[in-house]
Amino acid sequence: MTETSAADQLTARLDDVLSRLDAAAARAGRDGREITVLLATKTRTPQEIDTVIDLLRERERPIAVGENRAQEIAKHSDPLLADNGVPRHFIGRLQTNKARDVVAFAETIHSVDREDIADALERRAGMAGLVRDVLVQVNTSGEESKGGFAPTVESVGPIIERLRAGETLRPVGLMTIGANTGDAATVRSSLRTLRQLRDQARTELDAPQLEQLSMGMSGDLEIAVEEGATIVRVGSAIFGARP
Ligand SMILES: *Cc1c(COP(=O)(O)O)cnc(C)c1O
Repeated sequence: MTETSAADQLTARLDDVLSRLDAAAARAGRDGREITVLLATKTRTPQEIDTVIDLLRERERPIAVGENRAQEIAKHSDPLLADNGVPRHFIGRLQTNKARDVVAFAETIHSVDREDIADALERRAGMAGLVRDVLVQVNTSGEESKGGFAPTVESVGPIIERLRAGETLRPVGLMTIGANTGDAATVRSSLRTLRQLRDQARTELDAPQLEQLSMGMSGDLEIAVEEGATIVRVGSAIFGARP
């Protein structure tokens, strides 16, 4: 009669994810401990999130939490999470009418995929007296369901320049959601595109501050790490299938 507790299951899944991440990093000559594990917390309870944060801290990993939905921001004020000091990111599709909540919540916003979103965030950050890091979302797969700028310097250059010209949003990198397919070569090609675009943008726009590459989720984190991810966004591989 064995009954695995919820915490034991989380521990087992987390350690599996970290060993996948470390093995991929080793293959690429990188150190897995330098890669931020961003917990994609949509639909998860404060209790689950808190448990995983403790485990990641014990394992001395750089961590962040990433929320997708403006409606779920409130749960991060739960006493279990409120003052935990873990950097908070926003990773979901942005709506201009939620810009105020997102700016108040997240010190890093991954999903700037349109000019009007940048306008709204800039205005709200200015009003609140806050400075926020942002990543420009890029559509590297060509899938129509995905948001993001086209993967060329011509496309991302203007938004990066305008962010740089303002005082409240600091562009620090690029984000993508990899191709939605089981074909590893196609996934790799989409993720490699993000890295090449970042490198090209740094040089051509003279923007060394574009350091971050937010890419890789439960299904493709190894490929993302091999291709240079600095932040992987992981949900179901750690927390289990979403309800
Ligand atoms: C949900 C989500 C993730 C994590 O997805 P999993 O497949 O559960 O790891 C990563 N990035 C974004 C933008 C998400 O919405």
